[in-house]
Amino acid sequence: MSPDNTSVLLIYTGGTIGMIENAETGALENFNFEQLQKHVPELQRFTFRIDTYQFDPPMDSSDMDPEAWRKLVRVISDNYNRYTGFVILHGTDTMAYTASALSFMLEGLSKPVILTGSQLPIGVLRTDGKENLLTSIEIATACRSNGQPIVPEVCIFFENHLMRGNRTTKMNAENFNAFRSFNYPVLASAGIHIKYNNVQIQVHGNRNELKPHYLLDTNIAVLKLFPGIQENVIEAVLSTKGLKAVVLETYGSGNAPRKTWFLQRLHDACEQGIVIVNVTQCSSGTVEMERYETGYQLMQAGIVCGYDSTTESAVTKLMFLLGHDYSPAKVRELMSRPLAGEITV
Ligand code: ASP
Repeated sequence: MSPDNTSVLLIYTGGTIGMIENAETGALENFNFEQLQKHVPELQRFTFRIDTYQFDPPMDSSDMDPEAWRKLVRVISDNYNRYTGFVILHGTDTMAYTASALSFMLEGLSKPVILTGSQLPIGVLRTDGKENLLTSIEIATACRSNGQPIVPEVCIFFENHLMRGNRTTKMNAENFNAFRSFNYPVLASAGIHIKYNNVQIQVHGNRNELKPHYLLDTNIAVLKLFPGIQENVIEAVLSTKGLKAVVLETYGSGNAPRKTWFLQRLHDACEQGIVIVNVTQCSSGTVEMERYETGYQLMQAGIVCGYDSTTESAVTKLMFLLGHDYSPAKVRELMSRPLAGEITV
């Protein structure tokens, strides 16, 4: 695409980046998108077209859900051919979930979809929002000499780093560097220049057709183990009505207690067709169930290896696969294969 027809669709969903302090209560509240542009006059200095789409009303990202993800997919797919790239302004709290979900729902994506936000509202003097927004727009429009987008992926850009969306986790509620991609290298670093880590960026050999997906099944649970966890807690989770899958957060390289009742409960759930995926509670590293006996027994019980998946990615991938009405065996098989670069097998 030549610079003449470069364009970006800026989608504002809500979050701190577009918030302002209520003079009476001191609480942060959403304000109108028009005001966002007023606070970032620099937007007008881009020489290409920036159109906007606003969620009405804007959402705190704690309220994000599959309905809102579907809306994002609809907006992107309806406008896919009209823009070089897409920037989504989003609250930081659940941004990693949204980025993960979109990476699965936007199958065949060949344009940049960059999510960003900020820790301080854009109207505040020390805001990190301006930097994040302006650089995201630059990345969303960056093309190679042959006109192909440099980063045709769903990403999060935050505090100088561009990360594959489904590899990210929010790990800091205070500092500007709120996100990390613990198990995959950053896709770009922004300093004086934006340096792209081309080897790590997914590029499809030929231009794929975008295939948007809308069906998600939320009949899943996340079960985090801790020493002393009671049988009735495990039982309550596994006997949840309609439950189809569980993300089991285990210790270290995928280890769990060896207690007979524990393994039996998991085994029975697997037999009933509940898909249980083993991800580690550690921020960094991968599950290797064959490494210790404590992990090996989980494998014997029928539990699927989640490799180096984040919980955010495992949760949204399960929703996506279950939305297809696949058999439990098929979901297990697909959980062990990267669909959008979310795991390293
Ligand atoms: N509560 C806000 C949200 O996630 C926090 C933020 O934007 O950073 O929507």
